[in-house]
Parts: sequence; C-alpha cells; structure tokens
Amino acid sequence: MDRAAKSVGNILFSVLWGIGKFIYNTGWVIEQIFIGIFRYTLLPIIRLLSKCTPARVFDWICNVGEKVIFVAQWIYLHLIRFFSWAAHSIVTDFCMWAPFFGAATLIGVAIFFHYHAVALEVSINGKTVTYVENEMRFAGAVTEVEQSLSETIGENYCMFTSPEYRFAVVRKNQLASEETLFAQAYRAVTEEIGHHFGLYVDGELIAAAERRETIEAVLNELKAPYETGAADERVEFMSNVEVRTGLFAPDSMVNKAQLRALFEGSTDPRYYTIEEDDYLSDIVEKTGVSRSMIYFLNPELDERRLVPGKKLLISEPDVYLGVKVVRTVTYDEEIPYNTIRHKDSSLYVNQTKVKKAGQKGNKVVTAEITYIDGVKSATNIISSVVTKEPVTRELYVGTKDYPESFSSLAGTGAFIRPISGGFTSCPYGGYPGHRGIDLTYRGGAYGRAIYASASGTVISAGWSGGYGYCVRIRHSNGYVTLYAHCSSLLVSAGESVTQGQQIARIGSTGNSTGPHVHFEIIINGSQVNPARFIF
Ligand SMILES: [Zn+2]
Repeated sequence: MDRAAKSVGNILFSVLWGIGKFIYNTGWVIEQIFIGIFRYTLLPIIRLLSKCTPARVFDWICNVGEKVIFVAQWIYLHLIRFFSWAAHSIVTDFCMWAPFFGAATLIGVAIFFHYHAVALEVSINGKTVTYVENEMRFAGAVTEVEQSLSETIGENYCMFTSPEYRFAVVRKNQLASEETLFAQAYRAVTEEIGHHFGLYVDGELIAAAERRETIEAVLNELKAPYETGAADERVEFMSNVEVRTGLFAPDSMVNKAQLRALFEGSTDPRYYTIEEDDYLSDIVEKTGVSRSMIYFLNPELDERRLVPGKKLLISEPDVYLGVKVVRTVTYDEEIPYNTIRHKDSSLYVNQTKVKKAGQKGNKVVTAEITYIDGVKSATNIISSVVTKEPVTRELYVGTKDYPESFSSLAGTGAFIRPISGGFTSCPYGGYPGHRGIDLTYRGGAYGRAIYASASGTVISAGWSGGYGYCVRIRHSNGYVTLYAHCSSLLVSAGESVTQGQQIARIGSTGNSTGPHVHFEIIINGSQVNPARFIF
C-alpha cells in the first residue's frame, strides 16, 4: 500500500475512532445519569419493596433488571468494538473495501443524473433567462419573438444584445419546455426594450430614450428659466407630459442633443437682432416665440440687459410644451376710505370743510399667481385679512348761494381781466378738475403781460409744481387770485400790487400745452368760476 492510501487510511481511522469515542463518552454520561436516578429514586423503592414483597418476586425483579443491564452493556460495548474494527479494517485492508466504495459511488452518480442534466445556461445582460439543451433552441425562440414584436411595433425589430451561453448542471425540471421557452425569450427581449422610456405629450409619443434621466434632464432645462426656488412654487407644463416605459423601435431612440433639438427647432435656425428699446415682451410679440423658448434657446439671456444689436436664436420648436408657474405670494394692500357729505348752509356752493379726516385701511392678501411662459395670466386670491379698518371721511358741503355782491363786485370792476382782451381757451370745468379759466391770444401770446386782477398783497411768486411759475395775490375782500404757467415773474412775495399792475408774462411752464395764463379766483380755500367776476 502506498503512502497516499496509508494517509487516507489514517484519516478514516481517526474519524471512525472519533465517532466510537463520542459514543463511549456519551454512554458514560448516560451511565452516570442512570446511577443518579438509581441512587435517589429506584434504590429507596427497591429497599421498600424488599421489605414488603415476597422474596421470590423480589428476586425475579432483580434478575430481569440485571439481564436488561447486561444486554445494554453488551450492545454498547460491541458498537464501539465494531467501529474500532471497521476503522482498523479500512486502514489495513483498503483493497477489500474498494469494490464496495466503487459500487456506492456508481449508484450515487446514477441517482444524481436521473434527476440532473448538463445544459446551456442562457443569460442576457448577466441575467439568467433559461436553460436549454442547445443554442439552436433558444435562437429559434428569439426569432419567433422578433417576428411577433415586429408586428406589434409595425417596424422590423431585432434584439440588440446577443445572449451568452454557459455550461451548467441543472435539475431536469429547470430545462425549458416547448411551452415555456417562447415566454422566457419574449420576456428577455421585452425586458431589454422595457428599459427604454417614451416621452408622451398629450398622449402622443414624441421620442424615446434609453434612459429616463435623459428625458427628465431636458424637461428640467425647459422649466429652469422660470424656477425661482421660492417656497410654494409649482412649475409645470401646460401640456400633459408623461414618461412611460414600453416597446419602442430602435430607430425612435434619441439622445439628449436630439431630444433638445425637438424643442429648439434647430433643424431650421432663425435669429432675431435686438433693437433699441426692445423689451422681452416686444421680442415675444414680434417673433411669436414664447418667453420660455427664448430663454431655453438662449440660456445666458438676461432680460434686464437686452443689448441692441445682439442676436437671439428664436427658432420655432417642433414640440411646444408651455411652462406654467404658480406662486403663492402675500402682500399688503391699501383699503380706500368712503366719504360722507353733510350739507352745510353756512358754506357757499362747492365750498367744503373737513369734519373728520379719512384714513386708509390695510389688508394682508395671500394670492396664487399663475404665470404662463413668464407672463402673469391669473391671480387667485386665497385669503384677505383686514389688519386696519379704513376710517370714513366726513365733509361739510356748502349749499348757500353766492351773495349778490359778487356780481356787483364784478360789475363795479372789483376784478378785471388779467390780460388785455384775448379769449378763453378753456373754461372753468372745461375738463374734470379744471378749476380756473385759461386766457390767451390768437398767436404771439408768449411773453405778453399778465396784470393783477385786483389790488392786494402777493402771497407767493415762484415755481409751483404743475402750475409752473405762478403768482398768488390776497385781496382785501378775502379773495385770492392765482396766475399760472408764466414765462417770467415781475413781483415777489410780500409785495403790494395795484389793480392793473403787470405782475408776470404769459408762458407755458408747468403742466401746460401752450402759452396761456391759467387764472383762478379762490374764496375760503375753494375755487369759484372767474367768469362770474370778469368779462
Ligand atoms: Zn387752466
């Protein structure tokens, strides 16, 4: 026997010896347990029995007990002996055992191959699809699937990925049957294309891409110009945009640049040259291209800095989505006050006196504002909370007729025309808020004299907002006269003037459309129609 067989024999011997020793040790523990049980339970019982049982019966019980113990001991000892012998025998007489081992191995192999077979494992993209006896079977199934898919899509479909084959030992029931093979091949092929994504706009397929991220990146680029990152901001498309997985013919696949091109219309590029005074809204109107599209095509555009002469890409897209932004904003709004008018017979007609000053109120408004392509399209007020109620203004309004003396004043020449002749270009009340009369000459009015309508004291002479250069004179009877839009002033505040004295020259300063003098007569702070006092 050579060394190898001897060492195998040694290992076998140790293993079997170990098993024998284990049984021996286990036996010892069991023996100890029985001894314990015997000492603390059986022994007292036996003692009791020996006292109260006839000797013959007691002896018989003892005999049976001894025999049982003897038999157990015999079996137990022979078991150890058998294992020791077997171990020894295998080591020393291996040749005698060899046929037995050979036969056992053969039977084992026969049993294994009754249930197992050597087959080809088919995998696609590293994923196991099925097990077949030969390549031809799977290739045939794929051809059938391709034909079926080509009919579904309406275009010639070929599987892109070639399957990989590998030998494998499998259980016979794992092998593909005629019925399952087509289904497995179909699943493999459709899973391959099932990883592709179609972009649908209002239910219509626009394009397909291999990765969902490609489509989402382009959609996000379209939205980006409108996103401010504000809380409660919703940015969505006007069209119903969906990304779905499904079956797509290989030639409907696009990459990111091709997908962008659909929204850019870069197949037919056009340019717009920014003109002087163009706002983005003007460019939208002139080109008919939406704001979102202009931003999308010109990512560096800043609408606050439109440089005249600069060219903008404004191609018409093949697909238009429209970007809708809904933002929730909160702002303060003034509430105007109402006015109540009380009649007061102590005041002349049109004269008013404030009884109680009005105060504007305030409210906090929360509204949802919708922008379409950046243009505000709707405001939906969600809530409006009054933080300050307005205070109603109360006025006294005069009802008393002007005294007869006014017309007599006019008659006695208390007031004279502030220019020599001329004509009335706009009467008192000629337009809402016109509380004086405009006097001028036909041609050559500019620079001609303006006279004091009555004697009095100049209370102001200088620039006065919309009145332009303006003179106010207070008269002894309580009236004030006013001369506006002058080209130059010849008097100053505090000076006394006499009726008919030149005080200024006709002009067109302030809020005026041509050279004239705007003449007012004021009593108790209210203007009255000067036509009642002068001819
Ligand atoms: Zn006027």
